[in-house]
Amino acid sequence: MKKQSIILISCDHFEKDLTDDIVKAIVHEFQHPVVFKEYDFEISNFYFPGRRQYDANKILKEVSEMVLPGSFKKIGLFRVDLFIPILTYIFGQAFLNGNTGIVSLHRLRNELYGIKQSKTILNERFKKVVIHEIGHMFGLIHCQNPICVMRSSTYVEDIDQKSQNLCAKCKTEIGIS
Ligand SMILES: [Zn+2]
Ligand SMILES: [Zn+2]
Repeated sequence: MKKQSIILISCDHFEKDLTDDIVKAIVHEFQHPVVFKEYDFEISNFYFPGRRQYDANKILKEVSEMVLPGSFKKIGLFRVDLFIPILTYIFGQAFLNGNTGIVSLHRLRNELYGIKQSKTILNERFKKVVIHEIGHMFGLIHCQNPICVMRSSTYVEDIDQKSQNLCAKCKTEIGIS
């Protein structure tokens, strides 16, 4: 039987270099086939005027309900400012041990913090957030190892401090050597 794939779903416009790079990183980290798909996502339905942000819980639910043949797990890529009720913003979220996750580039941009724009830094951060959320989908919880990608990150500086890789302990936990 053909192994089912992790589906990377572009729900906005992303450069091919970036999405190719993310696909490669996921395959490397989880040793699982990855398929890239573009999806015409109606993001305006999820805008919450009271916070001028987008409702991550509702978006996550919408992505979870997408019917994608051959999907083992799926993760949606966005560019909008995501929130959940208890937090000012989130970089991404996923169902622990579930099959759906979402991430956004929005809060990862240097410009938002008054620092010079950098595509390289932005792409590195985005990749790490994607790997982190997929880790949760594989059942991993936050890791204390300072360079493990499963370490929790509140600020972009936290993301910059860690690597894009799972530590040996996290790999063992999900059965990857
Ligand atoms: Zn997390
Ligand atoms: Zn770890």
